[in-house]
Amino acid sequence: MKFMQFVHYINDIVAGFILYENRYDYNIVTEKRILQNEVKRMPRKYALPFVRNIGIMAHIDAGKTTTSERILFFTGKTRKLGEVHDGNAVMDSMVQEQERGITIASAATTVNWENHGQDYRINLIDTPGHVDFMVEVERCLRVLDGAVAVFCAKGGVEPQSETVWHQANKYNVPRIAFINKMDINGANFHNVLDMMRARLKSNALPVQLPIGQADSFRGIIDVIERRAYYYDNDDITKFTVDRVPEDMVDEVELCRTALIECAAESDDVVMEKYFGGEDISVEEIKSGLRKATIALKCNPVFCGTAYRNKGIQQLLDGITDYLPSPVDVEHVTGFDVHDSSIGIERKTDDNEPFCGLAFKIVSDPYVGKLTYVRIYSGTLKSGSYVYNSSKDKKERIARILQMHAAHREEIEESYSGEIVAVVGLRLTQTGDTLCDEDTPILLDSIDFPEPVIRVAIEPRTQRGQEKMLTALIKLAEEDPTFKTYTDSETGQTIIAGMGELHLDIIVDRLLREFRVEADIGKPQVSYKETIRKSAEGEGKYIKQSGGKGQYGHVKIRMEPLESGKGYEFVSEIVGGVIPKELIEPVNDGIREASRNGVLAGFETVDFRAVLFDGSTHEVDSNEMAFKVAGSMAFKETMKKCDPYLLEPLMKVEVTVPDEYLGDVMSSITGRRGNILGSELRNGVMIVEATAPLSELFGYATTLRSISQGRGNFSMEFDKYCEVPKSIAEKLQKNKKQ
Ligand code: GDP
Repeated sequence: MKFMQFVHYINDIVAGFILYENRYDYNIVTEKRILQNEVKRMPRKYALPFVRNIGIMAHIDAGKTTTSERILFFTGKTRKLGEVHDGNAVMDSMVQEQERGITIASAATTVNWENHGQDYRINLIDTPGHVDFMVEVERCLRVLDGAVAVFCAKGGVEPQSETVWHQANKYNVPRIAFINKMDINGANFHNVLDMMRARLKSNALPVQLPIGQADSFRGIIDVIERRAYYYDNDDITKFTVDRVPEDMVDEVELCRTALIECAAESDDVVMEKYFGGEDISVEEIKSGLRKATIALKCNPVFCGTAYRNKGIQQLLDGITDYLPSPVDVEHVTGFDVHDSSIGIERKTDDNEPFCGLAFKIVSDPYVGKLTYVRIYSGTLKSGSYVYNSSKDKKERIARILQMHAAHREEIEESYSGEIVAVVGLRLTQTGDTLCDEDTPILLDSIDFPEPVIRVAIEPRTQRGQEKMLTALIKLAEEDPTFKTYTDSETGQTIIAGMGELHLDIIVDRLLREFRVEADIGKPQVSYKETIRKSAEGEGKYIKQSGGKGQYGHVKIRMEPLESGKGYEFVSEIVGGVIPKELIEPVNDGIREASRNGVLAGFETVDFRAVLFDGSTHEVDSNEMAFKVAGSMAFKETMKKCDPYLLEPLMKVEVTVPDEYLGDVMSSITGRRGNILGSELRNGVMIVEATAPLSELFGYATTLRSISQGRGNFSMEFDKYCEVPKSIAEKLQKNKKQ
């Protein structure tokens, strides 16, 4: 064994030399090629191969915020360390996030990191972990090139991490994993690896191994370099490098072989050397692993403790070593703005026409509205005009900001592959495409689910009413899963969102940011109405008694659409039967009327309204009359379309000790739930089920009492489904009273 260690020691020294000679050859070559192309056009500080757009994803409490915070610290952007439990973490820019210790909105932060003499730019997006904010996670994944999945060394793969992992699969996001909290009692690195393999079907390959766990956690082994890192407890930026402890040599070699085999599968050079029995350099292994990670064939696994500042520098190296740059992922694709059957591809290149996706809007106290944009191709210049192809409108880019954790930097232009914040966009909403007007493209928009829960909100003072409405509109602009409207029957202001916590936070922000005190009622389920079949109907609004009359007359057809499609309006008017300027008012009339369906006054969704005929009067026809006619036509037609009620169905996961399984199952089925399965994981039973949201209010309390406080449950929105007849009748009756 001693001899083996000596061999590794010599290997280390030799590898060290090779490392400095050949370091990142592939990157330098690519950069030179790119720089030659670019030099005439513009100087960009970071060539594309050295840019990383990454997100950090995790189950709540796994340590995402602390890890992001340490990344900011080690990249030199923040001088002092902020702790989440002290409530001064830099990424948690919103006060209430600090108090609750969770991260709600994503903050895009730009940092720099030097890895072996090469400077990298990392755009870091902090994603939320709570179920109520899953859409935030989705929208971040859409604009990222790679991600770090943080797991708790004790809890491992928790329900939420599983959900987020599957979302990342959906968007083909390459991932490395960071097993955090190696210092806590119960930390078990190998257990988390097993869970990743079993539950996430991940090819999880450790590139690091912990030296000791929990109280005895002392350092980290770099498997590829065969080195041990020990951290200095006094100076957190320091660590010492040593040989692999003797009792871990075999394990390190086993892991190293697994890494080489994976690298060989994705890299011909490594493959040849591997089968030829030749030595494979550290660089070659890393290069092969990088290819495998980007091709989604493996997930390199790191470990450490963010809280105790161990392993963060190596994690940053890992981000630059294994996660893709914008040129390593597929080029963005979209559609022709006039014909969605024609696909268009845009290369990640500064010389291509500009295109980008607005993925987040924040109302900022200093500059007004800030729109975060991921630039996919071309360059974006301050003071220029861009075309919003989703809205068919031109918008001016007043200023471009690069967002750092503690300050913002105004820049003149930004390039393909970057993430920036733009000031000056008035009409752009989350999910809109911005592009060059002469070469337009429409990128896929981001799908947002409909809010599932709603509650009436009232300002404490009469004077607060207007302020509250303005504030709510601003908040809805920022967050596409939050909606606000007036209930036309009760006249109350309603706010609707993805869960109770979501709405709590909105009320909290009203108070802190807009100084509006408001009370909310009891949360209600957001039921919807829809139709089963197509039918035609008519709306006639005619008033001709004395003075100027009113004349609006339309014929429409309503057709059911697939679930989740919302509302569509199509005009089939030809030959000017209804003049052009009166068509949009018909659309407005139908849309407004659809907010109160004919069954029980809930919003009507998933239907298309086709305007196909009508008539006008020379003098009495106007926009107002056609709007009313549209609304009348909607009410008449919907009744003929076999309308029915929809309710949100939730995916539920209950974690409970074995002995309470029977009671838990019957508590779910008693709530109109459907058990999908149950399994034993780490000594506790996990029950997966679906159940209507309306039955789940107060379920936390029920579960606590049947499991003597030992059960836990999480839920997330699944889909809208039909309300059973008996319940639908009750809802209709209540509404009519
Ligand atoms: P998030 O919900 O995933 O953002 O998790 P946080 O970063 O807010 O961490 C949750 C809690 O765990 C906080 O109290 C942190 O201080 C603590 N924490 C995070 N990382 C570590 C770690 O490595 N070791 C220990 N002991 N505590 C940690």
